[in-house]
Amino acid sequence: MRYSYTKLHTYESCPRRYQVEYVEKRPQASTPEARRGSEVHDCVAEYVKHLVANGLQTDLDFIRSLGISAEAREILETFATSHMFPEGTYLVEKKHEIPLSDSIIFSGVIDLAESRDLDVVITDYKTFWRTLSQVEVENNLQMKGYALLTSSLFPEADRFLCEMDFVRLGVTRSVTYNREDLTEIVSELLRRIEQIENDETLEARPGGSCDWCAGKRDCPALTTGIEAISSREDAEALADELIVLKARDKEIQALLKPYTTREGPIARNGMLVGYHTSHSASYKTLDLMAVLEERGYDPFAYLRPDTTGVKKIAGKDEALAADLAEISIDNSSSKFGIRKGGDAS
Ligand code: SF4
Repeated sequence: MRYSYTKLHTYESCPRRYQVEYVEKRPQASTPEARRGSEVHDCVAEYVKHLVANGLQTDLDFIRSLGISAEAREILETFATSHMFPEGTYLVEKKHEIPLSDSIIFSGVIDLAESRDLDVVITDYKTFWRTLSQVEVENNLQMKGYALLTSSLFPEADRFLCEMDFVRLGVTRSVTYNREDLTEIVSELLRRIEQIENDETLEARPGGSCDWCAGKRDCPALTTGIEAISSREDAEALADELIVLKARDKEIQALLKPYTTREGPIARNGMLVGYHTSHSASYKTLDLMAVLEERGYDPFAYLRPDTTGVKKIAGKDEALAADLAEISIDNSSSKFGIRKGGDAS
C-alpha cells in the first residue's frame, strides 16, 4: 500500500474525506483559491527549475516571458529578488518513495533539496496566506516525511534542514532533523498508517477541509434531522451540519455562477437564483464637498475616514500607531457565524 503526506493529512482532517477521495476515488473539488495557489506553486517550481538547469542565480526576463496571472507574476518577481541560487547540487520537484515496511511505501514530491556537504536543505514552498507557527512547523509531519525521503536520496547526509517558505509573505520557518531522528519518524508514520488501516468506520468530521472535499453532497453530517437542541451532542451535530452546509453552499454557487452568467437567473417558485444588479453610486471627494458646500451643508459631516488606508500607514509608522491607539473608539461587536479556531479535532 502506498501512502503520502497528503493522504495521511486528508485522513487527519476527516476520515470520511479520506474514504471519498482515496477509496472511492471521487475527484477532489477545486476552488478558485486552490487554483490560484497551484498556479503560484507551479510558477515558482518552473522558475527554480529554469535557474538550476541553466546555472543562473536569478532571471527576471524568464519571469516576464511566462504567460501567468498578474498575481503570480508579482509574487514571483518578489521571490526572484529575495531567492538566489548559487552553484550547487539541487533536486527540484523530485518525486521519490521509500519502503516503510514490507507492504507499505511512503512517497512524496520534494519542491527543492540542496546538498551542502553533510547537510541537506529541503524547501517546501507554501502559497497560502497564513504562516504556521514555529511549534506547528516542528510538529509538522510533512517536514518529517521530507527529511526521511531526502535521507535516501543523499545517503551521506547527516542533517536535514527542512524549511517552509511562505512565498506570498516572505517568511521562512525551519526545523532540523538528524539521521538518528529518522527511526522515530518511520515509527510515527507507521503508527498513523496503522490507525487508518484499522479504522472501520471512517466517520465524517466536519471542519476546515469541507471546502475542498469531494463528498459534501452526500455527507452524513448534512442529515442530522435535529429540530431542537436537548444536549451538547445535538448542538455539536448541528454545528457540524452547518459547517458542511456552508461548504456545500459555496460549491453550489461555484456550479451555478457560470451557468447563470451564460443563461440568466433561474426562476423557482417565486425566487430568482442568479446575478442581480444592485445600483450604487460614489462621488469624488472634492466634487462632493463642493456640491454640499454650495447647497449650504457642512461637507465634513458626510465624510468618513479611510480606516483601512490609515491602518496601512500605521503598520509602518509606530508613532502614528501609538497616537491612533489613544484616540481609537472600540466598536467591537459579536456576530453569529463560523470561523477557524478551537481544537482541530
Ligand atoms: S464534507 Fe466535510 S465532514 Fe463531510 S466528508 Fe467531506 S470533509 Fe468530511
